[in-house]
Amino acid sequence: MLRNYFLLAALLTSLSIQVKAQKVDYVLVVHGGAGNMKDLEKDSIHAAAYYAALDSALEIGNEILAKGGDGELAVLSVVSYFEQNPLFNAGIGATCTADGQFELDASIMRGKDLMAGAVAGVKLTKHPIKAAHAVMTQTQHVMLSGAGADRFALEHGLEMVDDNMYFATPKTMQWIDKLKQESKKNGTVGCVVLDSKGNLTAGTSTGGMFKKQWGRIGDSPLIGAGTYADNASSAVSCTGHGEYFIRHIVAYNLCSRVKLLKESIQEAADHIIFEELNEKEGNGGLIAVDRNGNIAMSFNSNGMFRGFIKKKTGNSNIIKKIGIGKVLK
Ligand code: ASP
Repeated sequence: MLRNYFLLAALLTSLSIQVKAQKVDYVLVVHGGAGNMKDLEKDSIHAAAYYAALDSALEIGNEILAKGGDGELAVLSVVSYFEQNPLFNAGIGATCTADGQFELDASIMRGKDLMAGAVAGVKLTKHPIKAAHAVMTQTQHVMLSGAGADRFALEHGLEMVDDNMYFATPKTMQWIDKLKQESKKNGTVGCVVLDSKGNLTAGTSTGGMFKKQWGRIGDSPLIGAGTYADNASSAVSCTGHGEYFIRHIVAYNLCSRVKLLKESIQEAADHIIFEELNEKEGNGGLIAVDRNGNIAMSFNSNGMFRGFIKKKTGNSNIIKKIGIGKVLK
């Protein structure tokens, strides 16, 4: 009798999880970095370029997910798009080290089996996120770094660049020429997805922080700090002052709060961003989606390039919102 009761309870719990999980077909959230966006508020032409880029990223993801495509492919495609767009601090347009070079970091994680891949400090790999994905799918390892990671990318047929200066833009060349004043450029990129199969995936790519010590590795390629995905909880991608995100293991921290403390994804994100990493300490933000399609986009800076698309079950409309400052449009 008691056994039947437990079986029934287990069945009802799993049914209620499935019912919840079916409320949305898919969700995709992107960020393009957090930081001080005050200058952009006065520069509508420049701001429009960011809106258009975020919109393109969402459309790229939507096209894949609407056909029932995997979240993994959506994350890879969206982050690769950002890496090719000079507006963002990833791939072309990445910020530079104190000795005027580009050292790129990226990571990807899928929540269904906790498989993950990352590269840190690559200098010649055109799309660091693709190299991170190859580490996940084609090696026994989670992270490769520096020249070894570039060599791995080359040997696995990924697109390479001849010269590290490929990643420079007129703007970063100015910084390299001077390397004096602090740069205001933000623009690490990230993407988290819940796909129609109920799988969560997260990915992040960055040039790191301006004038970083050569060899420095931030949170973005660190699984648990800048990126994490677990089908039992959430998928998370972070942006901001990496050292703080590493100390607070932000991405894993959020997943644990949701899973163990049963906090909503918004409560967990706000606790970490506004209480653990307050303004004085670590500046930045995160995007997250949970297994039921709820999202959070919290930041303690005055802006974060961000956007999401959501397709609800039984409703053909796609909900799409994009924001830079506090307001989403
Ligand atoms: N989190 C990145 C790093 O510390 C930088 C950023 O997101 O702006 O390398």
